[in-house]
Amino acid sequence: METKTCSNCGVVKAVELFRKRHKQCKSCVNEKQRKNYQENKEEIKEYRRKYNHENKEEIKEYKRKYYQENKEEISEYKRKYYQENKEEISEKERKYYQENKEKISEYQRKYHQENKEEINEKHRKYNQENKEEIKEYKRKYRKENKEEIKEYRRKYYQEKAKEKLFIMLIKMMSLNKKDKK
Ligand SMILES: [Zn+2]
Repeated sequence: METKTCSNCGVVKAVELFRKRHKQCKSCVNEKQRKNYQENKEEIKEYRRKYNHENKEEIKEYKRKYYQENKEEISEYKRKYYQENKEEISEKERKYYQENKEKISEYQRKYHQENKEEINEKHRKYNQENKEEIKEYKRKYRKENKEEIKEYRRKYYQEKAKEKLFIMLIKMMSLNKKDKK
């Protein structure tokens, strides 16, 4: 095993624990960076904020380009990440939703209110552009959920029939009352 002595902590370590051409070991370098960050946190933040602001367009463009060039890797990574952390993610979402239920629904209501036309337009456009896919999706959904749909319809009509019957009964009852008078 090839080793090197760290110029900072003096410990003899495997070369893999050093960055290339560094005299200090990785943990010493990390520690120094951490300390440096802690001591200059505000300046660094301010610098970043300023930098981001002054280079807004370039950053946007860079992100856009990066996304375009790595679209597949990114979506693959997301997919994989989601698969591997599915339970954790849904648990977190559930918890977040529970804790912020009112805030979320208020936000949604407000957002919807303020962007009504845009949302409608988006939906309309989406439906227009994805006509065939939507049709296919509906067809597939109907096929795969035949029994549930049947059951749902059966229940729906049963309820409707009950309602009708109920209304009829009430009408009959009030007719009876009138007759008695
Ligand atoms: Zn060291």
